Amino acid sequence: MNHLVNDRPFSQIPNLRQGVAKGLRKSMQSGDLAANLSFARVTAMHILSEDFLRLELQGDDLARFAEGALHFRLLRQRHADRPAVWPRRGEGGKPLWPDNDAQLVHRVYTGRQVDADRNRITVDIYRHAGGPTSDWALSNPVGERIGLIGPVGGGIPPGGWMLLAGDETAQPAILRMLETLPPETEGEALILAGAPGREGEVVNRTGIRLRWLYRDRGDDLSAAVRAVALPERDDSYLWFAASKSEARDIREYFRTSLGEDRSRCRASGYWG
Ligand SMILES: Cc1cc2nc3c(=O)[nH]c(=O)nc-3n(C[C@H](O)[C@H](O)[C@H](O)COP(=O)(O)OP(=O)(O)OC[C@H]3O[C@@H](n4cnc5c(N)ncnc54)[C@H](O)[C@@H]3O)c2cc1C
Repeated sequence: MNHLVNDRPFSQIPNLRQGVAKGLRKSMQSGDLAANLSFARVTAMHILSEDFLRLELQGDDLARFAEGALHFRLLRQRHADRPAVWPRRGEGGKPLWPDNDAQLVHRVYTGRQVDADRNRITVDIYRHAGGPTSDWALSNPVGERIGLIGPVGGGIPPGGWMLLAGDETAQPAILRMLETLPPETEGEALILAGAPGREGEVVNRTGIRLRWLYRDRGDDLSAAVRAVALPERDDSYLWFAASKSEARDIREYFRTSLGEDRSRCRASGYWG
């Protein structure tokens, strides 16, 4: 389960006596669904490239995913022929996850585009080897009912000058920011992709310069981040997301080597 979201199965809540846990479990089984849980149907699947596919989701109450945090937890039932299990409403409104994780699969994704008026969300999924969620998405699950918990994680950071850098998993967030940040925003964006192909789709409404890096050319994301000449400005923000180990490395670079304050930088581990 990702560190960005504070949600645990109730069996893992410390100091919860066995009897209390049992009672809680019983009441939760019949209780309300988690407050920030919405449902949607997969209405379309598009292959975008060798590396990416897109799912279109249609729900009834997805407007809140257009505001604040950019991400959500995508929940799906592992076995369509078994009764569905969903998180219930826990203490303080937090989701209480069912113990039966074998049935419910959940991973964090970014709302690539959110149409609040039509209750539609588009999610771009990186096709990585051995990924149950990316394999599921590739199986063309049109018509399937899924859950969305959120919004979760970080939102669009403030900044007049921004460094936005990341790998495939960060690509949807970076592209959404390039579409939605104020047009006067300046900076550098670095996106690591497998190979050239999707550059023409980018809608960049900002003054941020976008540069693509390619794995098949041997480009190194961390080295490229360190090579960016940062301006002396009070309104800059440094944003990075990729594997956990790369994020650790870049967080150290931002905070220790550059001496950036936490309020002006963020390096997140999205996988690994
Ligand atoms: C805030 C946030 C936003 C995210 N947004 C997106 C998004 O919009 N699109 C997107 O595609 N992903 C996104 N991710 C990443 C995604 O949640 C993970 O890649 C997730 O692990 C995929 O789940 P899975 O079921 O396919 O594989 P898992 O069961 O989680 O992992 C199976 C194996 O694949 C490995 N693996 C996972 N991701 C990758 C990868 N990218 N490259 C290589 N190996 C990998 C794991 O380490 C593991 O060994 C986001 C993550 C976070 C935290």
